[in-house]
Amino acid sequence: MSDLSRQLDALYAKVPATRCAGSGDCCALTNEEFDNDYATMFPLYRVEYANIVAYVERYFPPERRRELLKFTEERPRRCPFLGADHGCTIYPVRPLICRTYGGMNAVSIAREVVRNQGVLPNGEIRAFARREAGMVCPRVAVTEPEKVAEHARMLIEGIYERELQRLSMEVEVADVERKGLFRQLTGKKNWPVYWSWGGFNALRFSSLEWVRQHFSAYWKKAELPDAG
Ligand code: SF4
Repeated sequence: MSDLSRQLDALYAKVPATRCAGSGDCCALTNEEFDNDYATMFPLYRVEYANIVAYVERYFPPERRRELLKFTEERPRRCPFLGADHGCTIYPVRPLICRTYGGMNAVSIAREVVRNQGVLPNGEIRAFARREAGMVCPRVAVTEPEKVAEHARMLIEGIYERELQRLSMEVEVADVERKGLFRQLTGKKNWPVYWSWGGFNALRFSSLEWVRQHFSAYWKKAELPDAG
């Protein structure tokens, strides 16, 4: 395991563990969600992308590996890692967004709002309450309640995001030649800090010829990369 993977795991360990009914509903979009610009498995930070690529290359059979690494749909209706049995096929390395989904409920959100009032800025507490309310799931139960207070504080203070950004700065999506092409075609100095599985794949695993001929149009239509 690389040092970056270890640091990522240490961060993920701060998230309270959950038990999920396993319907797979949050890993695929309804037509309405799709039309309202929702996305599954998003945001995917570049360090998380690299971590998942390493897992796929190590544990998946060749045909499935090829299929996943060639996947370039930026905002698919169904997460490419959702298994036929509605389970997550990359569960040990799933990104932060999938770990935090359903980790708070109406009661714990209200309790953490009160706990942090007067301690942390009101605007950040309100943003936390709004965001988490949108991710409540009645089919998810928290099995490590002792972690919730600290988890909520980290969410309010944006500590997870800052740490994922910091770790992502140490990760290259692809080699120097592709980075040069990316800069030339997009005018950006560096890779996106977060994007989607398909977006990062388009950069890293598409043929150089495809990148030269088609990446510019792909980028113009892209909806999910960070400002960069
Ligand atoms: S990575 Fe796993 S948990 Fe996350 S959306 Fe995909 S299938 Fe679901």
